[in-house]
Amino acid sequence: MKKRQIDNFPLEELSKEEYHSPTELPRVMLAIFDLVVTLGIMTLATSLSFFFRHIGFHESNFIMAYILGVLIVAKQTNGHVYGILASVIGVSSFNFFFTEPYYTFVTYRPDYPVTFMIMLIVAIITSTLTAKAKQESRLSSLREKRTQILYEITKGLLEVRNFNQIAEVGGRDIAKLFNCSVIIATINSSDGLGEPIIFASNNDERANIFYSYPERQALAETFQTGNPVGAGAVVFVDSPAYYLPVKGQSGTLGVVGVSCFDSKFLSDEQIRLLESVTTQIALAMERERLLEKQQKAKMDVERERLRGNLLRAISHDLRTPLTGILGATATILDHEEVLDKKVKRDLLQGVYEDASWLIHSVENILNITRIDEGRIELKKNMEAVEEIVAEAVSRIKKLASNHIIKIDIPRDLIMLPMDGALIEQVLVNLIDNALKYTLSGSTIKIKMQINDEWGVFEVSDNGNGISEEEIPFIFDRFYTVPTVSTGRRGTGLGLAICKSIIAVHGGDISAFNNTSGGSTFRFRLPLKE
Ligand code: ADP
Repeated sequence: MKKRQIDNFPLEELSKEEYHSPTELPRVMLAIFDLVVTLGIMTLATSLSFFFRHIGFHESNFIMAYILGVLIVAKQTNGHVYGILASVIGVSSFNFFFTEPYYTFVTYRPDYPVTFMIMLIVAIITSTLTAKAKQESRLSSLREKRTQILYEITKGLLEVRNFNQIAEVGGRDIAKLFNCSVIIATINSSDGLGEPIIFASNNDERANIFYSYPERQALAETFQTGNPVGAGAVVFVDSPAYYLPVKGQSGTLGVVGVSCFDSKFLSDEQIRLLESVTTQIALAMERERLLEKQQKAKMDVERERLRGNLLRAISHDLRTPLTGILGATATILDHEEVLDKKVKRDLLQGVYEDASWLIHSVENILNITRIDEGRIELKKNMEAVEEIVAEAVSRIKKLASNHIIKIDIPRDLIMLPMDGALIEQVLVNLIDNALKYTLSGSTIKIKMQINDEWGVFEVSDNGNGISEEEIPFIFDRFYTVPTVSTGRRGTGLGLAICKSIIAVHGGDISAFNNTSGGSTFRFRLPLKE
């Protein structure tokens, strides 16, 4: 089980105290504070009334001073209890200090009880209205904050990809939001509950409770039943945590457990917020599932297409050289004695060319399959450029008897990090194309130079070049144009493979027509890893 520490609190700004587990101590402190504020303000109202009497004001001003006091109390304290208390204190004080006989709760005038009654009703109504307005504004700002928090969380969840990352981000956000420890588990590939992640808020050791057997059982129970479990629920009521299933349209996708160590239960508001967050987590998970399904379907279609194309390539294009080999060898075997030396040699040259072409094509087909399955393994070493070029040329030389091959590489020994066999394959493909798409007698130039941080290779020819409309497509798989010179159709894999090999090396490849005729294929490899 993975355990994470949550120390920082970026969401604090938004969440304030409303969503954190309220503890017993602050609640008592808050009540004492409100009481002191009430008594203080009402004492001030009494002092003001004494002052009014001293300067000879009418007694209706005393009543106004007390009502003002009640209003301020209702505004400054939490809940309407203090407003009502202030109303009672106000009426009693007015009676005690300012009606004759003074300093008693007795009154001589018969209309005073009515005054007291009306004063009390006015004070209670005003204080209740003020408290209600305050509560309304608190609720609406709470709702606003809640929307903002959910927006932040949803935004965070949109940026992550797999279930594991969703659990990481979701669990961390809940821990920050509620300022408590969290356990979160999502379903694994076999639709069981995967390994949970624990977020210990402020290094709280009590988060270790999530490792205990009963808590693991509570987690499993939530997953199996799809109902909330733990403190405040119907089952596992002794648990110090509240477990909520992460429910999507396709069923339960995971479980979130939130510790309530300080307060015994989560408040209704907290549960509602937790439900909203788990819904966001469920949505992110379902979106991820859908994406995965779509990607898999796309890959299946692509694989199927590739298989079909490969089969076509093999059946059509590989049959031609095989038939050639068969024909030539059969002629030699049947008429060995009567064939003269030159004809025999020409036939064998044909067999050699066809066999080379076959090997070359099979190598390309194997490589494309490997690239497609993500099995292309780079065996990077520091390789001497000279050796790689020489090896590629020697592999293709016998096919190039009618072409002139020129090599132009620096005299100094240049070592580049590369997979020698793969880069050799790139060069062979490019030289092979230059041979295929130019007439005999043409010149093929292989050049290499260092440019900034790159080793730049070029294979150019002086053939007919490539039509400008075709250039954007020639690196695509199975893109091929039948050759006029040899009449043989290619498989359209050569350049696609070159592009993939160069890309895994961190380089790039491009093609362009030379101003003096023919085309150039240029690829760059980084000098350093
Ligand atoms: P293939 O050679 O099997 O057709 P490639 O991927 O090697 O497949 O090449 C794709 C296409 O690019 C070729 O069909 C050809 O039209 C064009 N092409 C490649 N190299 C050259 C070149 N040196 N000169 C002219 N055209 C070329």
